[in-house]
Amino acid sequence: MTEQKQFRAIKGTRDILPPDSTLWNWFEQSARDVFESYNFREIRLPIFEETSLFARSVGGETDIVSKEMYSFPDRSTSSDATADAGDLISLRPEATASTMRAYIEHGMHALPGNVKLYYMGPMFRRERPQKGRYRQFYQIGAEVLGQSDAPAIDAEVIEMLVTFFSRVGLTRTTLYINSIGDKNCRPQYVELLRAELRKVKDQLGADSQRRIETNPLRVLDSKIPQEQEIIAKLPKISEHLCDACREHFAKLKEELKLRGVNFQDNWRLVRGLDYYTRTTFEVIAEGLGSQNAVCGGGRYDGLVELLGGPPTKGIGFAIGTDRAILSIQESGNLPKLPGLDVFVAWMGLETYATAVGLTKKLREAGLSVELPGEEMKFKKSLNLADKLGARYALIIGSDEVATGRFTLKRLADADQKKLSEYELLEYLESERRGTRG
Ligand code: AMP
Repeated sequence: MTEQKQFRAIKGTRDILPPDSTLWNWFEQSARDVFESYNFREIRLPIFEETSLFARSVGGETDIVSKEMYSFPDRSTSSDATADAGDLISLRPEATASTMRAYIEHGMHALPGNVKLYYMGPMFRRERPQKGRYRQFYQIGAEVLGQSDAPAIDAEVIEMLVTFFSRVGLTRTTLYINSIGDKNCRPQYVELLRAELRKVKDQLGADSQRRIETNPLRVLDSKIPQEQEIIAKLPKISEHLCDACREHFAKLKEELKLRGVNFQDNWRLVRGLDYYTRTTFEVIAEGLGSQNAVCGGGRYDGLVELLGGPPTKGIGFAIGTDRAILSIQESGNLPKLPGLDVFVAWMGLETYATAVGLTKKLREAGLSVELPGEEMKFKKSLNLADKLGARYALIIGSDEVATGRFTLKRLADADQKKLSEYELLEYLESERRGTRG
């Protein structure tokens, strides 16, 4: 007999099983609630796009585009196996590019006011998997697009993020902010940085040496210990911002203070994507080891234009859901989540019809109910109820059916009550309101 292959999830991907999936749903629902309270609405985007969309927006020189995308020829439109880059499609490594594409494609610039969108879903990057770093991971992101680049918009987006994190109990975090200038002041700074870096080239590792020419800003977020002292002495962007950028950054800080948002300046926060201008920010959470960034974001004025749309200002962020949830789990600060409310322990075939009817009513009342499809011995039944974590066992025997009064047993302390159908529904509903708010 040939041995059966044991299939396993591909390295860097994972299954999210119950009860974790309940925690994930709660986390995502909390994001929806908070974001919608700020008048953001959801956009649902495709999982794959033309490769060139990402190359153009994220940047061809970035790690994401140059080595991490899952790209393949789109055989449905091209029978030619040697399809050129225009025919390549990629699993999305992030969703800002798709949001911009959709904004342009649907003429959303014509909508009144700022366009405030959020999204959630899986992203794909071919990275070396480790704790908190996966090849399929999940992000929740938000974007504001429109004609204004007022610092109040940046501040509101950051306030919303901080409000969400506090709502889900992700409190052991630090928010870092920076301004990386715009097309008026950044090119000079980048040249200055490049010139300074060339002087110390020999003391830098291979990656940083390469980046001196390709993307010197990225040297600033190097984590290599030997490079830290050298980087600390490099010229700081804050000292080379043009007046408009300096004023924008100062106003942003005022706005954040007005809104009670705590932050720290970090002049080395440049972010790995090419499209950022002015404001950049990142949130770091405790207890995650080296992969401790739970959110990154920034302003990207000009990105819509770069993709062929009208001149548009934009700002957004992406939360790493996997890491944020990991951090909540590690802190032990977990919410009380709904589980199985009632296990229906029916005994005797003559009670089955009553059990089915009552189960239906309890479910209609919003309770989570488990009804065994086959008759079970009393003891086995209660045992299973316990193992499934049910809060109550509803005992339905021939006595109960005859008298119309059912036994509700609270499994935590074995407290028992005899209740009519009406009382039972009343009791469980009010009890659920009490425990779940
Ligand atoms: P980025 O799109 O690179 O700015 O990332 C935004 C956030 O997504 C990061 O702060 C992380 O929390 C999360 N993230 C990025 N890449 C990964 C990955 N490979 N695995 C898990 N989370 C990730």
